[in-house]
Amino acid sequence: MTTPSNNVLPAAHASDKAAPPWPAYVTASLAWHAGAGLFAVAAPASWPWAVAAIAANHAALTAGGLWPRSRWLGSNWTRLPTHAEARREIAITIDDGPDPAVTPAVLDLLDAHDAKATFFCIGTKARAHPALCREIGRRGHSVQNHSDRHSRRFSLLGPKAMAREVAAAQASLADITGEAPRFFRAPAGLRNPFLAPVLQRLDLQLVSWTRRGFDTVQREPTDVLARLTRSLAAGDILIAHDGNAARAEDGAPVLLAVLPRLLERAKSLSLIAVTLPAASLHQRSDDTATSAEAAASASP
Ligand SMILES: [Zn+2]
Repeated sequence: MTTPSNNVLPAAHASDKAAPPWPAYVTASLAWHAGAGLFAVAAPASWPWAVAAIAANHAALTAGGLWPRSRWLGSNWTRLPTHAEARREIAITIDDGPDPAVTPAVLDLLDAHDAKATFFCIGTKARAHPALCREIGRRGHSVQNHSDRHSRRFSLLGPKAMAREVAAAQASLADITGEAPRFFRAPAGLRNPFLAPVLQRLDLQLVSWTRRGFDTVQREPTDVLARLTRSLAAGDILIAHDGNAARAEDGAPVLLAVLPRLLERAKSLSLIAVTLPAASLHQRSDDTATSAEAAASASP
């Protein structure tokens, strides 16, 4: 799915943390249900209208969950915060691992280009390959939560099952790496209104993407690269895969052919590939500018 890249994004602000557990849109939906019910009681003949109003609301909630970059169901990063964009940072996110056949080579490529990435790991795979999961962190990258089983039915789960999926991965990844994830990405980006309260309880920020390469199905590295680098700019969040990676004609995982060219392209645009936790830091890299601004604001 493509959407405008000028979709400016909220940072990890304090206001997100203080928000009520249900997003405003969901709260409004609950009120809508109550209103439709009262309307049907007050004017019984109008019940088909009340049913239609509720059905329309459910359709809108479902659409919000099936549109990965929507914010109808709660805070959702589709780009990096503006302070990261000002530092010319981008985030390369690598999903569905760790995979012993692909991840080690990805780590070597990142090292060779002095780049950092965020790995959205699946709980079951992390438990199967804990040393590889730790190695990701040891090399300066970040391990984040991509659910426990990466179920295709994730967006159909009820509140308890959804909470289990997120919490089990959170506990495993924290245990393996020694650091609790701070970011969550839903399997295939699909979710439902039950996810937001779970993320808030575990202090997790939902992250989708600015652009994706479709490298689980697209076997041609040139096409994947073109999708990822179209209008590549500071603040972009890109998504690629080490787990479930499509294989190119030569049998190699597509990402291994795409990553060096992507990193060279980023470098040519003076973009810096950083982890999501690094991008969320508010510090300015340019201390001189900060001091100058402070002096300017102090002067009459
Ligand atoms: Zn995934």
